[in-house]
Amino acid sequence: MSSIAQHLHHISQSLPNHVTLVAVSKTKPMADILEAYNAGQRIFGENKVQEMTEKYQALPQDIQWHMIGHLQSNKVKYMAPYVALVHGVDSLKLLAEIDRQAQKHARIIPVLLQVHIAEEESKFGFDAHEIREILDHNRLKDFSNIKLSGLMGMATFTNDQTQIKREFESLASLYAQYADTYEFDTLSMGMSGDYALAIACGSTMVRIGSSIFGNR
Ligand SMILES: *Cc1c(COP(=O)(O)O)cnc(C)c1O
Repeated sequence: MSSIAQHLHHISQSLPNHVTLVAVSKTKPMADILEAYNAGQRIFGENKVQEMTEKYQALPQDIQWHMIGHLQSNKVKYMAPYVALVHGVDSLKLLAEIDRQAQKHARIIPVLLQVHIAEEESKFGFDAHEIREILDHNRLKDFSNIKLSGLMGMATFTNDQTQIKREFESLASLYAQYADTYEFDTLSMGMSGDYALAIACGSTMVRIGSSIFGNR
């Protein structure tokens, strides 16, 4: 077994059944993705539209491609025909463009709203207050070609487990407040360094790159 297959196997086995694994393949070559694919993985995450589209075109068609990065509106059209889930939606303008492009391709594109839970300034996303404003007033009701499947967030890059836990719990609590009303099924939180904690806090989808493919 290749080391990628071994890492994948090890991680998959450690995940509870209700948690979905997104193998984050950004910057990694197609050969690495194929190794994971041949080991059974079908969901891959990328953070650049152009790179994801090149990989989509070259690799097996039953791969589900997730956009996990910060997204510019003018790039949405390139992935609209095929993207399986957009994790990082952080503005209504972006949502409107995803809806418009989805309509062009006669698709319903599933999306997650990104919530800013980390201390760092640099991380994108809505804050909890903005999420409540949007969801309490059903601001998305006119977007007929998107499906709001849940929320996504990233904890602060720190070794302080208490802080990471607090941030994950705040996202999970926000998610729980709206899960029934919006029929959410996806809480995307947890990366290589913190996914066990994220799952303990209620994550249903983890995005793992370096622990599968090695450091970037
Ligand atoms: C790169 C990235 C990941 C994966 O990070 P690892 O630490 O390599 O597991 C997860 N989520 C997002 C949004 C990323 O950009």
